[in-house]
Amino acid sequence: MAFQLPDLPYDFGALEPYIDGQTMEIHHGKHHGGYTGKLNDAIKGTHLDDMSIENILSTISTHSTAVRNNGGGYYNHDLFWKIMQGGGVQMPEGVLGADIENTFGGFEAFKNEFSAAAATRFGSGWAWLLVDESGKLVVSSTPNQDNPLMDLADVKGTPILGLDVWEHAYYLKYQNRRPEYIENFFKVINWDAVAENYSKAK
Ligand code: MN
Repeated sequence: MAFQLPDLPYDFGALEPYIDGQTMEIHHGKHHGGYTGKLNDAIKGTHLDDMSIENILSTISTHSTAVRNNGGGYYNHDLFWKIMQGGGVQMPEGVLGADIENTFGGFEAFKNEFSAAAATRFGSGWAWLLVDESGKLVVSSTPNQDNPLMDLADVKGTPILGLDVWEHAYYLKYQNRRPEYIENFFKVINWDAVAENYSKAK
């Protein structure tokens, strides 16, 4: 069964002024759409055709580079759209808020660690907040379209928050100013969605 490009859960301009509508339109339609189509081409007529994306990713070391790049791209962007929203600044609350405090020594310490992971990822990739295999919250980053669900990831687990630091995610508005993009990403995080991912991952 073919994977479908999911609709954005908001308008292209909903994350303005932090992420511009033109970037969102191209990023969703062309980039995420491209990964989805190429993933479908790569799995068509193979035994992967009826597997879930999570199962494909957890056995990624046994699949082709096309499945790795496009399967990662398909999954990562689906997560990325869902953990953002327009509107005011929001902090993690409840169990997630408390666990971030306890794990990282405060929200600011977490933000610094996550931002550093995103800023220092050389070239293209992602920064993650994930639940690792021991159930602990961890920050990591991966190259290209890899992610923590992949069996070949350095830090394995279930991602609950991800930031795309490919230039296609920010270049139109920010050019080479990746740190400014990272700072502004924190103004559009949907912490309710991240908390929901956290309770499912645990
Ligand atoms: Mn992207």
